[in-house]
This record gives sequence, structure tokens and C-alpha cells, in this order.
Amino acid sequence: MAVVKTKTTSKAKPNGKVRTRKNALSRNGKLSTKYVYAFGGSKADGRAEMKNLLGGKGANLHEMASLGLPVPAGFTITTEVCTYFYANGRTYPKTLQAEVAKALQNIEKIMNARFGDDENPLLLSVRSGARVSMPGMMDTVLNLGLNDEAVQGLIAKTGNERFAYDCYRRFVQMYGDVVLGLKPVDKDEIDPFEEILEAKKHAAGVHYDNELSAAALKELVAEFKAAIKTRTGHNFPDDPMEQLWGAVGAVFSSWMNERAIAYRKLYDIPENWGTAVNVQAMVFGNMGEDCGTGVAFTRDPATGEDVFYGEYLINAQGEDVVAGIRTPEPIARLEQDMPEVYKQLMTIRQKLERHYKEMQDVEFTVQNGTLWMLQTRNGKRTGFAAFKIAHDMVKEKLIKKEEGLRRLDPSALNQLLRPIFDAKEKEAAVDAGHVLAKGLNAGPGAASGRIVFNAPDAVDWKKNGEKVILVRIETSPEDIKGMDAAEGILTARGGMTSHAALVARQMGKVCVAGCSTLEIDYRARTMTAKGQTLREGDWISIDGTTGEVIAGQLKTKPSEILQVLIDKTMHAEDSETYRIYSTIMSWADSIRKMNVRTNADQPDQAANAIAFGAEGIGLCRTEHMFFGGDRIDAVREMILADDEAGRRRALDKLLPMQRQDFIGIFEVMDGFPVTIRTLDPPLHEFLPHTAHEQADLAVKIGLPVEKIKAKVEALHEFNPMLGHRGCRLGVVYPEITEMQARAILEAACEVAKSGKEVLPEIMIPLVGHINELKLQAKVVRETAAKVFSEKGMKVDYLVGTMIELPRAAVVADQIAKEAEFFSFGTNDLTQTTFGLSRDDAGRFLPYYVEHEILEDDPFDTLDQDGVGKLMEWAVERGRATRPKLKVGICGEHGGDPATVKFCHKIGQNYVSCSPFRVPIARLAAAQAVLEETEKD
Ligand code: PEP
Ligand code: MG
Repeated sequence: MAVVKTKTTSKAKPNGKVRTRKNALSRNGKLSTKYVYAFGGSKADGRAEMKNLLGGKGANLHEMASLGLPVPAGFTITTEVCTYFYANGRTYPKTLQAEVAKALQNIEKIMNARFGDDENPLLLSVRSGARVSMPGMMDTVLNLGLNDEAVQGLIAKTGNERFAYDCYRRFVQMYGDVVLGLKPVDKDEIDPFEEILEAKKHAAGVHYDNELSAAALKELVAEFKAAIKTRTGHNFPDDPMEQLWGAVGAVFSSWMNERAIAYRKLYDIPENWGTAVNVQAMVFGNMGEDCGTGVAFTRDPATGEDVFYGEYLINAQGEDVVAGIRTPEPIARLEQDMPEVYKQLMTIRQKLERHYKEMQDVEFTVQNGTLWMLQTRNGKRTGFAAFKIAHDMVKEKLIKKEEGLRRLDPSALNQLLRPIFDAKEKEAAVDAGHVLAKGLNAGPGAASGRIVFNAPDAVDWKKNGEKVILVRIETSPEDIKGMDAAEGILTARGGMTSHAALVARQMGKVCVAGCSTLEIDYRARTMTAKGQTLREGDWISIDGTTGEVIAGQLKTKPSEILQVLIDKTMHAEDSETYRIYSTIMSWADSIRKMNVRTNADQPDQAANAIAFGAEGIGLCRTEHMFFGGDRIDAVREMILADDEAGRRRALDKLLPMQRQDFIGIFEVMDGFPVTIRTLDPPLHEFLPHTAHEQADLAVKIGLPVEKIKAKVEALHEFNPMLGHRGCRLGVVYPEITEMQARAILEAACEVAKSGKEVLPEIMIPLVGHINELKLQAKVVRETAAKVFSEKGMKVDYLVGTMIELPRAAVVADQIAKEAEFFSFGTNDLTQTTFGLSRDDAGRFLPYYVEHEILEDDPFDTLDQDGVGKLMEWAVERGRATRPKLKVGICGEHGGDPATVKFCHKIGQNYVSCSPFRVPIARLAAAQAVLEETEKD
């Protein structure tokens, strides 16, 4: 590694690009940029809001110091210096050296010690600190300022020679690695310092570093320095100032190391942010029994409970707590070990929370009974904790409900609404290498069950009291009953809007889809992954939140909210989680402007969705109803009929069944609008494909099996998704639409007669041309007129269309002449805009996302630049024709928070999503309003 240039201020060129955020008047009266911000002794140049300039860590150190908290004095070199450093051949602005010298004097004064002194030396830490935390990605140097003289001072000051030499050898080791570049040259080489240390321990006949004597540690210092000289050619610098500049340069340089670059890519952190460098007086937690170090959260980060939560170690350094070499004590014990310190920490805890109005994650050190705060930042937390903390802080009047809502990640609701694995069990399974594969996280939650490979088995096994996971290459509408019987669904093929994914979400089932490394053999009833073969009946666990597939049975914990809302096995008063959920949802509802509907085609799904707060059905897919009971036979008879008369005979059989379905739904949805879509999938999906099924059907409906076979073949399409489906079916066979419209409106009349309010909206799918919609709307309206005259009554209804083809979006002004509402079918609209098969994309889209060819899976979160533009255009053009046009979305994106916000932005009236995502959409819709007001 090239040694970083230090002390290069004389070569410095002024850099016009650096912003002059805070300027100071220099001696010649010109304004010069301030590059160094000092803190300590209850004073600070910086503030928490200055994260861009001082980095997150630095800004919070300044804030803590100005709050009067005990922070070891220090200074921050700004991120602007980092920018300058890279823009100017790794050199510094010329005023920097003097600023650093002054800030150093300030530390010496406050800490009452001198840098490099042989009686009372000041030791420093030099750490990175970017705008956002990048844990462990950049370099750090500790114990800086030691040399052969200063170490004597440290001995004198502490009376502990062993401690002083241990600091010294750690410093040489760290500096030698980070600044002077003595590290392993390849991955097989062991760390050169560790090698010397091991040899020393061996010679001394001891196992642990802390068993080495002061003399041995002193020898190590010399041996480390010699190794640095021989292997790198560098003399170890004795001059503390030279040490300091070396460390500062190394920290700035580490902004561009491979780890940091990779991390920035992963988390979208711009390179031009740069890092700040924090130079701070060292304090020691390892100087004896009246010392210690710890980390703590101001509230429990797992549950959100309002308790001080953390751990500490007596006589230890910061790394020891994190490294797990010794088992730390729970923070509550500190009350006995160090009562004064504990009391002080409790006051600080309160002060920090009151000040930041956020849960804090702090690090502290106790040196000879004196408490020092080393860091504070907003603490990371689980979804549960996030909801509880936001809720509690609003109740405590620490923040407003708008702020509480703003802080939440709507997707984290999945943790509250779904079963989850026992965290310890899962961790153990992962550690033991039981993760077999990873697929798409298509249906969140956790499920364990025995493997079955087909839907009928799933149904039978469930009847026998077994919990099953249905494992399929892919699913089709025929699998519905099996999917319903299973705890979860695992498929080898298909994307986020594949049949398995969207039906699973609608049913609230856990689902991992498109797990392409799985080899499934239906005949042998095996699935193989990572060289391991599992058989029918073996236990498997799937995590639909992460996409992991794990061999074996893992314990799951049900959601309390579901127990209250859906299963009714728990009372609201008994569940704090439920109460928090319902309060937060009521806040969201009071703010959001869009309605939230659900995609449901069964009364029980609709009822679940209402419990989750749905305000209507945005998509009822009628084809799913065709698979219930014996209906499929009538459907098949209709498809196989030779002429219209034959089709009508079969449709007459279906009519009462469909009507009954709609009655069930209208009853549940009393007073809420219900959008029912006419038949959409290609007809061949309903036909029997195996010889056995074809023979069976032949007997049932009295047709020769050859005829059935021939019809199945005749209906084969090369590209069914772009074939004879959607409104094209109803255009060619209007009697199908007629039957469906009749079933809907007869059901509506019947339910209306019973005193309930019905609001049917009949939706025509896959319209590309206005003439298609005109034809279908005519069928619906004529049928309605007939039904109303037969019944002697009327109900209000609308006829609208899905916008799911680019052409429909483009000519939305024409379409709106006929359509009374639009609903974006973003699954098909994404498929057709990208020209990307939604059923096959699972094979290559993960690669696209992994390699950042696409930022996200466009079937998961809306492609706002492309598909979104078409939607925006369609809303605008549609409303140009029909100003009050009602617009919604019913593609799977309707439950994705980013898409929900986009829908708000383009002026939609509602979003519709699967029942379990309704709360997520409610929260996201509220956040959309808050984000909008923030901008104003
Ligand atoms: C869509 O295309 O977005 C849609 C909702 O319809 P389906 O998924 O049934 O094709
Ligand atoms: Mg569609």
C-alpha cells in the first residue's frame, strides 16, 4: 500500500468546489473555510443537524458536548476536507494544519494532558464518520500519541506498566496495519502481527494476550516495529504529530477502500459525500476494577419497551463487548456494580431522549469511576419496537402523531401481522447450514410443514391433521384448493406476480416463489437443493419475508393482531400489540386521502380485508370462482361446446353459482364498492391436460375423449398471455360476459332487496381499443336493463375498464368516453410495457436486480419512470375527457409502499391490494400526504 501523504499543506491548492458553509475571517481579512470543529468541556462548534459536514458520529458528539454531557474532548475534520483531499491529489487545504494545531491545544487544555508528553501524555483516537453510519467499513487508529517517552508518562500516570505497554503494542499494531500497510498479502496468509503475537505467547507458555507480562509486551512493540521496517521499508514514526497526520490521511483514504466502496453501492451512498475524521481524547475502560465499558439503548430495541437496555463489562475496552470474548452483564446490574455511574447514565438516558425525541443507541466508558459518553445515534429496532416506540412517544407527547407515522416503515407491519419464526431457532438453523435455497419473498411470514408435491395431497394431508407446505414447479388456478390447505407455498419458477405469488398474498399465505435452484421431481416426489434431497413428508420451513428455504421444522409464533381481528381467539384488551396497531392505523386514516380497497374473490377474504380496514373491493377475479365445487365441469362444457347454443346451455348452469358467489360478497361488503372483473385468463387454463383427467371429463359430460383432446390442442397458444384472453374472450363470446353481468346484477338486486347497500362496478379487462370496451359495455348495459325490468327494480352500477396495456394508457382520453372508472392492472401493464413475461421473469430478473441493471423487480415495486409515466398520462388524459373519473390500481403493486405514494402523487382515488397488505397501504397513503406537506 502506498503510504498516504501527510503534512502536505504547503502543496495545497485552493479548491473552488468546496462549499464555504461556515467561514472565518483570516488574518489578512479574507474569508476562509472552517475545516475543523472542536468539542469538549460542555462546548461545541458543531450541532446534530450538521451531519453532512461533520458526519453522523461527529455531529452527535458535538451535540452531546453542548448538552453538557461528559464527552472526551476532540475535534472533527469536515467532510469537505475529504472532498478536497480527493480533488487535489490527496493533499489538504493550507489552513488545515493551523486549525488542527489549535484544536489539539483545546483538547490538551480540557483534558489536562499533553500530546506526546513523557509525564502526562494525551492519547488520541482517530476515527472515520460519514453522514450515515458505515459500520466497520473504514479505518480507525487508537492510542495514538505513544512513543518510547510517552509510554513512560503513561506508566507514571497510571502506575500500571503492563497496561501502558499493552496500549503501546496495540497502537503499533493498528497503526502498522492501517497507516503503514503491513497486512496479509493474500487470503491464505495470517496477519503478520498475529503471527508475532502467537510466537510471543508460545515462548511465554501462555494462551491469552492478557497473560503476557509488561516485559513481553515491551518486546512486542520492538518486534512489531522491526517487522514494519523490514516488510514495508517504513520507520515507525515517533513524532506524535507525524503519527496524527498519518492516521488522518489513512482514515480519509479508507473512504475509497474496497469494503467502503462496496458498502456504498449496496446502500446507495454517494461517493461525493466523503467522510469526516474525528480526533478525540482516549479514555480507558480497562485500567482496573473501577473502569468499564458498555453499549445501551434508551429503550428495548427488540420490543420497544421503555426500559434502559444494554450490557457492559468491567475492566474492558469497547471492542471486548462487541467481540463476544467475555460475556457482558445486563445493564441493570450496573446499579450494584457502580451505583453512581448508573444513576448518571439514567439521567443521560432521559436527557438524550428528551433532546433527540428518538430512541438512542449509546456507547460509554468508565475510567476510574468517571463516566464518558463516546457515541449516540438513533437506535436500530425491530418492526415491533418501531411501532411501540412511535406510539409511546406520541402518547408521551415527545413527538406529534405525524412524526410518529413518518418514522415507520409500512412494510414492517408484516412483522406484526404475520406468523414469525422463533428468532433463536431460526438463527441456530441458519448457523447449522440448514438453509437450502433462497427465492423471492413473495408472501411474507413464516411457515413450517411437511412437503407435499400436489394440491390434492395438500388437501388430503390437511384433512388428516397435518401441516403441509405445497412445493410446486409453478402453480396454476387448479392448485387453489391445495394452496388454501397449505401453510405455505414454495415454487421453483415464477416472479412476484406469478400465480403462486399473487394468490398466496390474497389468501394471506406464506410464499417463496421462483426458487430456481430447486430441482423438483413430481414423480419421485423429491426436491433437491444444495445437494440435499428432501422427500414427501419431510419437514421444511419457509420464510416468506426473506425468501429463505430451510430444512426441518421451526417453531412459529402467531400474530396477536390476527388473533384479535381474524381468528377472534384473543380480546383486544389482552393484546398491547393490537392496541398499538389500531391506534397507529387510526392516525393514518385521519391523514390519508386515498381510499384503500382489497383484491378478493371470496367472502371470507373480503371479510378479512374489512377487518384490516379495506373500504371496498378493487378487484374480484371471477375466474377463481370457476374452480369451486363442480363448477369446473360446467366451465369445461362451455368451452367444449360447438356453438353458441351449447355454450349458453353450459353458462345457464354456471349462472346460479356465480350469482351465489356475488351475493356472498355483496353481503359482506355492505355499503362498500365492489369491482368485479369479467373473465380474463385464456380458456385453455380451464381444460384438463392429463389423459386421466380428459378421460374422466369425457365420462362426466358424455363426449368422446378424442374430442376433448382435440379441443385442448386447438386451444393451445404459443403466447397465451398475449393471446385470446381478457376482453377478447367476451368480444368473441359475448354470452360469457352476458352471463357474468346477469349474475352480478341479479345478485345486487337480491342483496339490495334485503336492505343492504350494493355498489357494483363491472370491470372489463385487457382493453386495448375503445371498440372492445364499447362492445363489452353494450352487453353489460343491455343485460342490466333486462335484469332491472325482470326484477322491477334498479341498482346503481358502473362500467369501467382496466388499464393494463400501453395502448389503453396512451388513448385514455378515448377510453374514458366509455369507461366510468379506470383501474390500473400494473401486473400486465408492467409485463407489456417492458415486454417481460411475468411468469418467466423469475429466472432472470433476480440477476438484473443483483447486478443493478434494474434497481428493483418491476413486478414488485412500480417502475415509476416507465410504467408510471404511462399511468400519469392515462390519469391526465382520462380526466380531460371525464373530469370526475375514478381511478385506482389493482395490480400487485397496490400494496407496495413506494407505489402507493406514487399513486397518491398522480391523483388516484384508491389503491387495491391483497387483504394482508391493506394496513401497509393505509400507512403508506398517510405518509404520502405527510411527504407532500413536507415539500410545501
Ligand atoms: C394486472 O394485470 O395487474 C391485474 C390485476 O390482473 P391479473 O393479475 O389478473 O392479470
Ligand atoms: Mg391483468
